[in-house]
Amino acid sequence: MVPLETDPARITSAVRAARQRGRRVGFVPTMGALHAGHASLVEAAAAACDEVVVSIFVNPTQFGPHEDFARYPRPVDADLALLEQLGVQWAFMPSVEAVYPDGSSHGQAEQMHVAGPALPFEGAIRPGHFAGVATVVKRLFEIVPADAAFFGAKDWQQTLVVRQMVERYRMPIEIVVCPTVREADGLARSSRNAYLTPAERARAVALHDGLAAAAARWDAGDCVAVAEAALRETLEARGIACDYAAIVDPDSLAPLVDPLGPAIALVAGRLGSTRLIDNRLLPARRDVARQS
Ligand code: AMP
Repeated sequence: MVPLETDPARITSAVRAARQRGRRVGFVPTMGALHAGHASLVEAAAAACDEVVVSIFVNPTQFGPHEDFARYPRPVDADLALLEQLGVQWAFMPSVEAVYPDGSSHGQAEQMHVAGPALPFEGAIRPGHFAGVATVVKRLFEIVPADAAFFGAKDWQQTLVVRQMVERYRMPIEIVVCPTVREADGLARSSRNAYLTPAERARAVALHDGLAAAAARWDAGDCVAVAEAALRETLEARGIACDYAAIVDPDSLAPLVDPLGPAIALVAGRLGSTRLIDNRLLPARRDVARQS
């Protein structure tokens, strides 16, 4: 079996010792329920590093009071089997108390301040979510002092929050963002896809189709509002409640200053009790032909 570590002090020593031996260590933080998206991060880490640590920790501080923390899937045996197959050096599965020894996961005593790209979209809809993400990633980076950490572009806004935290605390770790892994029909792989009924699963591809429709409008030179409408309408046509459908600056997530881009299209939709997000980078274009 893959070496399983639950003790923060021991994983810290192991990573430090490996680096002292000249080994480059890669770190992939996850919440478990591992799928091909996580596997792609592990493979990217293994390609760029000598040793790989994968953490599995369902972080309570990034879930709102009415969110899915309790029902979040925790298939530990299957996760460890996949990590074994992928040949990672360590699986790190700390308890909540080990990550939050001061008890701050309950009282939210320590809430990290987040700003800028953390505020709109997921930040507005899930108050406290990115403060929880920044807090746990900082703690995990302190526990796992790796050379590089690997994150998925699927959670684009999260990658901006992590970069902001790393810059603010001058943490000596490289952040690598890897492409989104998708199902055959284009649906982004997500642990939350497991919540979907077969009928919802069939409709969920509308997020990907909507992003493709927005990209087609973008490439055709349409203005941002037209491309955003194409995205939103694709979701609504499949009965998906759209939380947001926006084309914004990919670094700040602010409205585009230059309508030629580059840009990112961000989307979030709800199917029954399941909330899914996705995004697509839109490359800079030569001209904007039509205005709405
Ligand atoms: P999670 O377990 O959902 O917290 O995700 C752990 C990491 O896997 C995060 O960096 C996610 O962005 C990344 N991830 C999740 N889904 C995908 C995907 N479909 N493709 C690539 N990376 C992903």
